[in-house]
Amino acid sequence: MKKVLNIGLLAALLLFSSWGFHAHRQINRLAVFTLPPEMIGFYKANLQYITEAAVNADRRRFAVVDEAPRHYIDIDHFGDSAVYTMPRYWNDAVAKYGEDTLKAYGILPWHVNVMYYRLRDAFMVKDPARILSLSADLGHYIGDAHVPLHTTLNYNGQLTGQEGIHAFWESRLPELFSGEFDFFVGKASYIDNPQLAIWDVIIHTHRELDSVLVIERRLAGQFGERKYSFENRNRQTVRVYSYEYSKAYLEALDGMVERQMRAAIKVLGDFWYSAWVDAGQPDLKALIKYKPSEAELEQRRKELEEWKQQRISTREHERETAQ
Ligand SMILES: [Zn+2]
Repeated sequence: MKKVLNIGLLAALLLFSSWGFHAHRQINRLAVFTLPPEMIGFYKANLQYITEAAVNADRRRFAVVDEAPRHYIDIDHFGDSAVYTMPRYWNDAVAKYGEDTLKAYGILPWHVNVMYYRLRDAFMVKDPARILSLSADLGHYIGDAHVPLHTTLNYNGQLTGQEGIHAFWESRLPELFSGEFDFFVGKASYIDNPQLAIWDVIIHTHRELDSVLVIERRLAGQFGERKYSFENRNRQTVRVYSYEYSKAYLEALDGMVERQMRAAIKVLGDFWYSAWVDAGQPDLKALIKYKPSEAELEQRRKELEEWKQQRISTREHERETAQ
């Protein structure tokens, strides 16, 4: 019984692990190198954690009920041009569609915004453990926001007879070919409005969706049975998309997978950097070895809450506004 359950869980992990564990780890790791000198020391000192924890958010999906919808938005459920017309801010979207509907079809862009403010707050109270776990989680969601199949009801090609395309695009292709990608993306830059910035990402990602589906369908017709091959994994023979088919798909996509990974790395660096700037550029070098006591952190969190209360009375829009 237990064994069956484990196999089921493994299958679910393989099917729906966004970007594949490999790509998520690379995105988090490489984003560290976009950071300015004031930040990079702290992140480099924790590079292994930032890299490994890139997939924590996916693991939580099996334990936390509310976790799953944070990883996608089936934007086409709301109509053809919904990616442009959906209210950008959570409260406005709730007013239009209701919270249950939004949660049913995914809340990715709003959750990225929530995570941004949580990270800013962690910087403000100089809590190294929280800065790291939120940075890693933010990396996961920003990674997901760059996967076209995370923006559609047809997330695994199940509506167009292309079952399996989800893991093919986001796991198999990066695992086979990301070693050849150019990941130099330059320096992180400041974003004025994280909520609008992540919507720009979603718009761009969603525009790629047609190509993801149409090109795979065309190739499938050309390849026939050569679409698949068999590999041995853990002493079992499994059917996979063949190397030739994967290579042909990668090339027909004309650099899309590489572009999306590069964009995810850059945007993640931008978000980390902006959260730190908005927190008043705290000294991170002091945090590399230092572990504040729980009492100290509690005091700082209290001060932050007081500061927020004062600001809410003057500036309504600064508040963290989702779920
Ligand atoms: Zn995910």
